[in-house]
Amino acid sequence: MLAVYSDDNALHDPDHFISRGVKIAVRESPERANQLLAALRDGAHEIRTPRDFGRDALLSVHDPRYIHFLANAYDNWQTLPEPRGPFVLANSYAMRQMKTLPTSFEGQLGFFLSGNSVPIGPHSWRAIASSANCALEAADAVRSGASESYALCRPPGHHAYADLAGGYCYLNNSALAAQHLRGRFARVAVLDVDVHHGNGTQGIFWERGDVLTVSIHGDPNTGYPWQVGYAGERGEGEGFGKNLNLPLPLSTSDEPYLAALDHALAAVRAFEPEACVVALGLDAFEEDSSEMMRVTTAGFGAIGARIGAQKLPSVIIQEGGYAVDALRRNLGSFLGGFLSARAG
Ligand SMILES: [Zn+2]
Repeated sequence: MLAVYSDDNALHDPDHFISRGVKIAVRESPERANQLLAALRDGAHEIRTPRDFGRDALLSVHDPRYIHFLANAYDNWQTLPEPRGPFVLANSYAMRQMKTLPTSFEGQLGFFLSGNSVPIGPHSWRAIASSANCALEAADAVRSGASESYALCRPPGHHAYADLAGGYCYLNNSALAAQHLRGRFARVAVLDVDVHHGNGTQGIFWERGDVLTVSIHGDPNTGYPWQVGYAGERGEGEGFGKNLNLPLPLSTSDEPYLAALDHALAAVRAFEPEACVVALGLDAFEEDSSEMMRVTTAGFGAIGARIGAQKLPSVIIQEGGYAVDALRRNLGSFLGGFLSARAG
């Protein structure tokens, strides 16, 4: 299948963040992309470099003030007084009743960045924008008639809201792809199988009736994004009933995962979408450092097969997955299962 990849992903290479009070290495590393790319080569997929779709394409789901902030964050960081670290990080966050966007850059840090897992380095913006372009290029192929495509997006995107970065995510690649597909298809479903809830995607389409968002993930009471991703969140207004969250207990293995996936796919079919975006995290893996689920390599093949069997025009967007040594075989297993089911 057509796969989209850019070397620019490696320009985003933050070295650490704080977790449980401890300085730890950022798990969302360029080596992830190298391993995923190896899987694409293993599968002899056609690998394409994305075009630049420009800032207007980003504005289809993102706030212009947020895009301006992200694109200029590193340069503005250099104007702050010393001492300051090598990566842009917020120090004080907008919470609940705090709703004013400050005009100062330093005030905006905690308005647009939701935590310390979204550091911005000197060339991060180029990598972030190129990741979005990978998603748009893959979506454009399906919009133009391809039956499926895959975007090797790094950094990932599904935790990013219209105006808020979080959880290693800055621009919401899956939402951008879904919105791009809307240019041809009346109803689009986003199915998120990353082990973490696709909260940004849910937020972006929360009041939309034309985009169904379904997420299968670890119980947020036990892991990121903690405050969102619960079963009672169904959408509002025209979007009411168009969001489905399927949180699963810690250590969920292949069989119960696939049962939840069947439930999710039934909801997708009931929506009668004309196209689908698959937000493909590989961090439900049994050896992933997220330590939330116990999905096996073969399990990813079964997940891919069940999604592929829907026979919907589909754009697969890479999200998380941090067991670096296993990414190659797990992506290969997913794509192999997906394509076998398409052929059958
Ligand atoms: Zn994840």
